[in-house]
Amino acid sequence: MKINLQTGINELPRIGIVLNKRLLKLGLNNVEDLLFYYPFRYDDFSHIIPIADLKLSVHSTIRGRINIIANKRAFRRKIYITEAIISDDTASIKAVWFNQPFITKLLNQGDEAYFSGKAETTSYGLQLISPSYEKVKKDQTHTARIVPVYSLTENLTTKQLRYLIKLVLPLSQQLAEWIPQDILDKFKLISLQKAIQEIHFPTNNKILAQARNRLKFNELFLIQLKTQAIRQKISQQQAPSINFNQPLTKKFVNALPFTLTASQKQAAWQILRNMHQDAPMNRLLEGDVGSGKTVVAALAMLNVADNHYQAALMAPTEILAQQHYKTIKQVFKNYPIKTALLTRTEKIIGGKNTTKKNITEAIADGQVNIIIGTHALIQEKITFNNLGLVIIDEQHRFGVDQRKLLKQKTYLKNTKQTPHLLSMTATPIPRSLALTLYGDLDLSIISELPQGRKKVMTKIVPPEKRQHAYQFIRDEIKNGRQAFVICPLIEESDKLGVKAATQEHKKLQKNIFSDLNIGLVHGRLKGDEKENVMQDFKKKKIDILVATSVIEVGIDVPNASVMMIEGAERFGLAQLHQFRGRVGRADHQSYCFVFTDSDSEKTINRLKALVESRNGFELAEQDLAFRGPGEIYGLRQSGFPDLKIAKLTDYSIIEQTKQASVSIFKQDPFLDNFPKLREKLDYFTQTIHLE
Ligand code: ADP
Ligand code: MG
Repeated sequence: MKINLQTGINELPRIGIVLNKRLLKLGLNNVEDLLFYYPFRYDDFSHIIPIADLKLSVHSTIRGRINIIANKRAFRRKIYITEAIISDDTASIKAVWFNQPFITKLLNQGDEAYFSGKAETTSYGLQLISPSYEKVKKDQTHTARIVPVYSLTENLTTKQLRYLIKLVLPLSQQLAEWIPQDILDKFKLISLQKAIQEIHFPTNNKILAQARNRLKFNELFLIQLKTQAIRQKISQQQAPSINFNQPLTKKFVNALPFTLTASQKQAAWQILRNMHQDAPMNRLLEGDVGSGKTVVAALAMLNVADNHYQAALMAPTEILAQQHYKTIKQVFKNYPIKTALLTRTEKIIGGKNTTKKNITEAIADGQVNIIIGTHALIQEKITFNNLGLVIIDEQHRFGVDQRKLLKQKTYLKNTKQTPHLLSMTATPIPRSLALTLYGDLDLSIISELPQGRKKVMTKIVPPEKRQHAYQFIRDEIKNGRQAFVICPLIEESDKLGVKAATQEHKKLQKNIFSDLNIGLVHGRLKGDEKENVMQDFKKKKIDILVATSVIEVGIDVPNASVMMIEGAERFGLAQLHQFRGRVGRADHQSYCFVFTDSDSEKTINRLKALVESRNGFELAEQDLAFRGPGEIYGLRQSGFPDLKIAKLTDYSIIEQTKQASVSIFKQDPFLDNFPKLREKLDYFTQTIHLE
């Protein structure tokens, strides 16, 4: 039989049904899958030492002849022990294995073999304990080299996988190179075929590094190409060019009860300039909680309305939408701008309640200029008259599908024009990371908080000070304030944190604050139940609100002055910083109490960074260093492709891949001269949902 890259694993020699099933569980169907199943680490058994040089408890590899090998039953215990005496020119040593009697079938007296393991002192002298072993051959698989270690499922051994991959490795010759030669040259990349061979069975550490570099490049390059393709597509779309009305904007800014910060001004300027172009804006506005994104959004909406186009702002929850509506209505009260609020439960035009039918009509025929809402905005029935700008607040809270839907429905009536898009987020994403994560978006960053904000006092509370903290909270509540308590997920099975939060709520209500009103909000509650609890908290019917981290308490409750975080070691710094941003929103001095049962130095140092820094970006960088980006930014939910080998912290490769893809799209925007790249990109696009 002739095997090729597409040959199913079940057709390979020595593969039974059972083994095949286990491989399927790992997503391995055919030869190509095996080739691209990268090891997750390596054991370096390449250094072979004389037996005489073996050191106690150091992992080492020796090469020797088997003088004698035999099984015996342990004295009074039901286990087999295999013993062998191995010698080379320098010395002899005994090796022992437990409960692997089959070894005497694989290794025989007189065999020349490698043994990798640790030597330990026993009552019988120095012995090699359960070393891995392999007879000397032309080419070693399991010892005497840098050995790959794969992630496995139950009942699948590393040896089986190594055997299989070794078996199909010669087929890597059939892999087609898809990166153009000049890019390979420019970035000193080794060929795909060589990279695949070396990633599994590296010749040495240097070539292994080159192989890793090449395969990381593959992944990041595709993402960057995709990003450029999206940019390319957007640049060809038409959008209404929005004129910047400077006198009007000045008048608006001067009437605000505060002066804009320098970075608010800069962000607003970038947005206004961008909307003046006739290709759609696709921009992310990043700024810490409380940095004042809303007023920047208002400046954009003002100019859009002044150009006789509509603007829509979509928020992830009803409360947030209401909050925005109140603000927006207030700031535009002296302008000929009609505002509307559309959520599942509320329909308001210009401050007055109305019917669903009325609001739908008013949006469709352009009577309202600025529409604030929730998901309700993307229902089927809603059509806009001439939408010029879409703003999505906390864009990561919306799924890929919802973002897509919004895009589809916003084509301007009667024309093929696309509105400008502004996403806003309080998640601080370091610039380098944003290049990859949101490479198709332009970035505006509000990097400072308005002056005069009181610093939230942050304290790490050790277990013995817990009662003090409770007393402190009690005093704050006596003074009219309120508090949040955030609970971490404790068990893997408790995905929404319902159990954790429920237990905490019970504990506080029964044992600690039985005379106070303790509220509870978690992901199992229905939409309106959640809203009710939040409203009660806002109305001060609840003194302390227990919440899971899954629920973002993304609302303004200026009266709350204490943020208490349980199990803080389980959260990223950027996330802790966001929780902290929920207090300190009014004039009262506010506090953030960070509880941890961990006394590991690493955890304490990490949490100290939170005490010392108020800068979300700085904390996010530290997070990256400590924990890696995956869990922080919830990439899995965002539709971001799985990275098998590259990391979002591979900054220099990210830069290189960006440079390479920009230059390719500049030369050849439709990749006409790069058919292999285009094919690869099309396939990649089918398997991800970046857009
Ligand atoms: P976020 O960026 O979290 O959405 P908001 O837009 O809700 O922040 O602003 C938080 C608060 O700060 C609001 O009450 C807003 O009026 C106020 N604010 C915005 N910009 C400034 C500024 N330059 N100076 C003082 N207060 C400001
Ligand atoms: Mg906001």
